[in-house]
Amino acid sequence: MSGIGKGVAVASIGRILKSKGFQVTAVKIDPYINVDAGTMNPIEHGEIFVTDDGDECDQDIGNYERFLDESLSRTNYITTGRVYQAVINRERNLEYGGRCVEVVPDIPNEVISRIKKAAKKTKVDESKDSSSPSPDKTGSVADFILIEIGGTVGEYQNLLFLEAARMLKLANPKDVLFILVSYLPIPEMIGEMKTKPTQTAVRLLNEAGIQPDIILGRSKVPLDEPRKRKISIFCNVNTKDVISAPDVESIYEIPINFEKENLGNRILKKFGLRQRRKNLKDWKKLVKVIKTAKKPVKIGIVGKYFKTGKFTLKDSYISVIEAIKHASWYHKRKPEIHWLSAEGYEKNPQSVKELKKFDGIIVPGGFGSRGIEGKIKAIEFCRKQKIPYLGLCLGMQLAVVEFARNVCGLKKANSTEFATRPGRIDIDKVIDVIPEQKALLKEKRYGGTMRLGVYKCELKTGTRSWKAYGMLNYVSERHRHRYELNNEFRSALEAKGMVMAGINPDRDLVELIELKNHPFFVGTQFHPEFKSRPLEPHPLFREFIRAAI
Ligand code: GLN
Repeated sequence: MSGIGKGVAVASIGRILKSKGFQVTAVKIDPYINVDAGTMNPIEHGEIFVTDDGDECDQDIGNYERFLDESLSRTNYITTGRVYQAVINRERNLEYGGRCVEVVPDIPNEVISRIKKAAKKTKVDESKDSSSPSPDKTGSVADFILIEIGGTVGEYQNLLFLEAARMLKLANPKDVLFILVSYLPIPEMIGEMKTKPTQTAVRLLNEAGIQPDIILGRSKVPLDEPRKRKISIFCNVNTKDVISAPDVESIYEIPINFEKENLGNRILKKFGLRQRRKNLKDWKKLVKVIKTAKKPVKIGIVGKYFKTGKFTLKDSYISVIEAIKHASWYHKRKPEIHWLSAEGYEKNPQSVKELKKFDGIIVPGGFGSRGIEGKIKAIEFCRKQKIPYLGLCLGMQLAVVEFARNVCGLKKANSTEFATRPGRIDIDKVIDVIPEQKALLKEKRYGGTMRLGVYKCELKTGTRSWKAYGMLNYVSERHRHRYELNNEFRSALEAKGMVMAGINPDRDLVELIELKNHPFFVGTQFHPEFKSRPLEPHPLFREFIRAAI
């Protein structure tokens, strides 16, 4: 089932194989019809991750990037929508030579060809604004390609992907290995770990023509020997290939836990390979810090995508959370993250005072008008009370709105995004739609049309951001937005002390703002969180946490 950690398991296996000297890449397959994740509500889907080449994809791609410490591209993400769209387009172009195009084998064949394509590494030329990745000049092909099939075994939605996997194995028996990630519940009334769901899952996989080679047993606690034996006998795998995958405090422990179970070498052995080297040292050091850091740094995230019924979801902001963690561990601190509801500050403006309890505040990305005024109140409080503030995309745009209203005296300042209803057009559009986006919105072309992927940003010498990035003149960061600081208001904002710390040189768009006379007040039009890695925290997060400490 979803949410048991398939993505992190894949990412961890990737890290292990990489540490043993192999080139690794990973592919996520999502069974839904959506062509990409960009048109989905984050509450339902979780975070929409963005790659260098501007793909709006599943958050697991983020996990892969963080664990593999490599940037992936749109070839690493496959959805049912994408597969069918490609096959139908090809049929329309008469590329099937007049024959009948069928679900089997044409759909699984398209899946297989996409998997093979992903094995060839691609690289985005970061020196220019670029949305199309070019094949890596070295033409390198990964030694391992890890493929995660989303969904649950036995459901209709992913059947064709299992079919593709079966066909891939049939064609390359020595090169394909199957790993099942299964959940072993411990019902409270019984107090015993049950293997039956795993047995059933394997039977369902067998029906699809697939026999797992390795089973990862996800559970609250480690699997004991009797459980391993039972799974081995009933599921037809060696006991050594039943890997215990208990809950952990931090997901970064997982590669180390897997290695304790010898998973890496079991995989290599099945392929007739030997490890080329062994190097999880840095990773182990990181995990040590994670486990021993005691002194907290308290960060509040003012958001709106975390309530669903009676549950609180954190998935919508996963890259932001991970970036905070990476930066906190860098400073040997224990990150303590709190969820603050933007709408709460609208209903009860006095409650914004609670922000004083935190060492730093982040307003992350978002869409639509719900909670906007609450976020603006929070930003005003951080600015005035000198609480370190980091605004990400929407958080930058609203920092500009707040500053325009309360410092520049433009009382009607707003973003066009929140004031397009008739009768509300008499606003000062300090944040306005990017010109080329206007036409797209008019034609209702929403899917995959935002300003997406990496764009160049020229840093202003002497600014806080410039120092954070190690005094670089140019950086390149990932974007996902339709609105932008309106250049007509730039000088008015600058006159009152807002610093335009980063500019996209090709389009003259403001990418970074800062305030002086404040311990840390930075807003980014881009999403730095997507590029933060556990062993290499993002410079802006690193400095934000430093200020918070
Ligand atoms: N809604 C804003 C825009 O489209 C901000 C987007 C974001 O925060 N990712 O520009």
